[in-house]
Amino acid sequence: MQRKITIIGTGYVGLTTGACLAYLGHKVICVDKDGEKISKLLKGEVPIYEPGLEELLRKYKGNITYTGDIKKAIQDNEVIFIAVGTPSRKDGSIDMKHFKKAIEEIVRNMTDYRVIVNKSTVPVGTGDWAKEEIKKHYQGKFSVVSNPEFLSEGLAVKDFLEPDRIVIGAEDKKAEEIMLDIYSSINAPKLVVDIKSAELIKYASNAFLATKISFINEIANLCEKTGGDITEVAKGVGMDKRIGPHFLRAGIGYGGSCFPKDIDGLLSISNSHEHNFGLLRTVAEVNKRQQERFVEKIKSILLKIKGDTVCVWGLSFKPNTDDIRKSPAVFIVNMLCKDGIKVRVYDPIAMEKAKKELLFDNIQFCKSALEATEGADVLALLTEWPEFSEIDLKEVKKRVRNYYILDGRNQFEPEEIKKLGFYYQGIGRR
Ligand code: NAD
Repeated sequence: MQRKITIIGTGYVGLTTGACLAYLGHKVICVDKDGEKISKLLKGEVPIYEPGLEELLRKYKGNITYTGDIKKAIQDNEVIFIAVGTPSRKDGSIDMKHFKKAIEEIVRNMTDYRVIVNKSTVPVGTGDWAKEEIKKHYQGKFSVVSNPEFLSEGLAVKDFLEPDRIVIGAEDKKAEEIMLDIYSSINAPKLVVDIKSAELIKYASNAFLATKISFINEIANLCEKTGGDITEVAKGVGMDKRIGPHFLRAGIGYGGSCFPKDIDGLLSISNSHEHNFGLLRTVAEVNKRQQERFVEKIKSILLKIKGDTVCVWGLSFKPNTDDIRKSPAVFIVNMLCKDGIKVRVYDPIAMEKAKKELLFDNIQFCKSALEATEGADVLALLTEWPEFSEIDLKEVKKRVRNYYILDGRNQFEPEEIKKLGFYYQGIGRR
């Protein structure tokens, strides 16, 4: 049946959830404290880049509205999703101020039974905390649910509508039934568990994926020393059904708004429960080293050829998103710029966001991938945007000063690049 749903927070998760629930036929109100976001949405503009999102919001606009007024958003809707940010603090622990504020605002405006569904990634025990907090101020009936989100940016709409599973942490029948009904037209296994397990499933999933990435990167580093080729090794390893082929792509490491934060978050949760999660600490260290190692590779080439200019292709933490939060590319550009190296950058989507973060005199933001190669001594590919595979490298050769390609994402075929007269170095490639 059609449900009346409120979404608090219209970021990557909240807006995707809102658009997809509208598409599924529900009536959705999206609320955000960021007035600029809401006015853009009201004008039909989408404040983030996600393939398919704009189209969905346009097509199902009859089912979705936007407001900055939390009271209005909560008063008539039975189900309230929370999708606010839960950033890391300096010490890696999770900053819950937005979540706490959202709960406070819900309690203040709740007048009847509500299902409060949490989509944000939060420490284990948050659901219990929310229940206690609400009970202090509200004597009526309500349910708290944990419904962690597994979408990945760049594929958010597809991931939401075609997930591997939907996890529902619910501890009463009514809430469980409402949640199963909301998602009834999504064809995916629905796993109903207790709230704490649901909260932990989210962290465990991201930590495991990050572990796979750091593991394959270490094998890639070993390939460089032994002469193996990581693409062949990863293929052979991934053919084992017990391991699977995904997340075995070597590169300059993971980034984005989730993996680094959630790894730190799980380490902090472990510490607070006096659990020494040494494996996970190493995963994070390997990831940082992988980026530093890439910078060292660039610098050693520049030193050898007495060059001073690097062309960087790609700034977002992965393709098909404009998100540069904790992007390995941004980390690498930062290190190069701080070292006084001239950096010419290009990204198909993330330039505007990057301009606000990379405030150096020695950085040049270029209008095209080819423009970025002008006079470069090293071309460093840091995000595997599909358009980089389409670029005519003969044109690149006309523009660069020296013929060095460092491929941080193993996007190119080494033999083809070498045939064109470039020196090529990927990650763990022969
Ligand atoms: P985001 O920063 O893009 O968006 C959060 C939004 O919440 C912002 O627009 C902010 O203005 C709004 N907000 C904060 N407090 C508010 C309040 N009290 N009332 C109204 N609006 C408020 O964050 P995101 O990337 O969408 O992530 C949200 C949560 O989902 C985080 O916990 C994150 O870890 C988790 N998550 C993110 C992803 C992802 O790929 N981005 C995937 C899975 C889970």
